[in-house]
Amino acid sequence: RRTAVSLIVQKFGGSSVADAESIKRVAKRIVATRTAGNQVVVAVSAMGDTTDELIDLAHQVTPLPDPREMDMLLTTGERISMALLAMAIRSMGHDARSFTGSQAGMITDARHGAARIVDVTPVRVQEALDEGAIAIVAGFQGFNRDSRDITTLGRGGSDTTAVALAAALGADVCEIYTDVDGVFTADPRVVKKARKVDRVTAEEMLELAAAGAKVLHIRAVEFARRHGVTLHVRSSFTPHEGTWVVSGTEGETMEEPIITGVAGDLSEAKITVVGVPDTPGMAADIFTIVAETGANIDMIVQNVSTAATSRTDISFTLPKADGEKVLTALKATQPTLGFEALAYDDQIGKLSVVGGGMRTSAGVSAQLFTTLKNAGINMEMISTSEIRISVVIRADLLNDAVRAVHTAFGLDGDTDAVVYAGTGR
Ligand code: ADP
Ligand code: ASP
Ligand code: MG
Repeated sequence: RRTAVSLIVQKFGGSSVADAESIKRVAKRIVATRTAGNQVVVAVSAMGDTTDELIDLAHQVTPLPDPREMDMLLTTGERISMALLAMAIRSMGHDARSFTGSQAGMITDARHGAARIVDVTPVRVQEALDEGAIAIVAGFQGFNRDSRDITTLGRGGSDTTAVALAAALGADVCEIYTDVDGVFTADPRVVKKARKVDRVTAEEMLELAAAGAKVLHIRAVEFARRHGVTLHVRSSFTPHEGTWVVSGTEGETMEEPIITGVAGDLSEAKITVVGVPDTPGMAADIFTIVAETGANIDMIVQNVSTAATSRTDISFTLPKADGEKVLTALKATQPTLGFEALAYDDQIGKLSVVGGGMRTSAGVSAQLFTTLKNAGINMEMISTSEIRISVVIRADLLNDAVRAVHTAFGLDGDTDAVVYAGTGR
């Protein structure tokens, strides 16, 4: 099917299309890519902080909005930006057509608010391309065939829309345009001296995304890796080359830095199940109940029970958004499971250092812990993977800790990082 013509998928995040002027600016950029002889498919996010504002609005109407209606509401954000962008391009004399997620063939499962893509059938997008038009697809949304309802892919999901389109259409590259010049060694809003990295392995990017670096949606990185989509993260405000997400084997040809980046995450809370009887199967029972709520847990810590009580505490972290329902579910089982109490703490922050070079170098944990010690910061939980170390600390100390660790690992650049737009919300 491939011809000499390149097919490029471009995704523009909310801060890149925050107002009419920005939409016109982005339209120019898209048209320039088209006029250079490429076929162009665009995935677009809702304007600015529209999604957050719609969520706030829903909560003013009811504390627990119905999930189906919530998806109906939130998908309107992307519908506004796709239509305006298509209008802007058409006014420049180029053919452009906008499509909702369902029109573009984004077929998902039925999980409202966290739907997963099960199939992509971009027939109408392909037709538009064949007729020489630019296709604009609403990000973050899909359609479930069984329920016949509109779904959303979860916050930040427009990145995944773009990658899924790139995979289905066999695009040459998927460009993720945002409000910073690429992937940095830390969030440039937190660390002024953060440096842009030219290349990051998919593996490192997955760990960084899971650790809270929201510059790329974790599922977009997974999807890209599985389907061999080339990802280029760059700024929509400058022509600068951004960050290429490369496969592990491509990564091996580089001299890998020990630490690629530091990430902070304030989106999690901690639940402690206090005084759990130390008998076989207790953890299984507790985490089965947690799993049934659909909540994704992150770290787990269990201590050896003290001989005197033969009881122990089990702590775990999870997204704050899931805290309420997990507490309710656990509370209901307290009489049968026989634990003493539940404690909920939403004032935690998670700091992670990520780097492929960690595999082959000793002492990274020691250096991290020493840095935190020198800053007078107490660690409450620790977890590691082959290429990541994460620690839970007090939320109000997180940003200072990220800066201290960034400096300690020699990641500070010579100049200040630039953030072109956005509110960081
Ligand atoms: P968009 O609206 O374009 O999807 P996002 O707000 O989702 O943009 O993601 C871009 C933001 O991610 C940046 O403005 C930055 O504050 C944040 N960020 C967090 N960690 C990193 C990192 N390591 N590198 C770059 N940006 C990061
Ligand atoms: N508009 C959605 C959000 O804010 C999706 C996205 O921007 O990726 O989460
Ligand atoms: Mg995003």
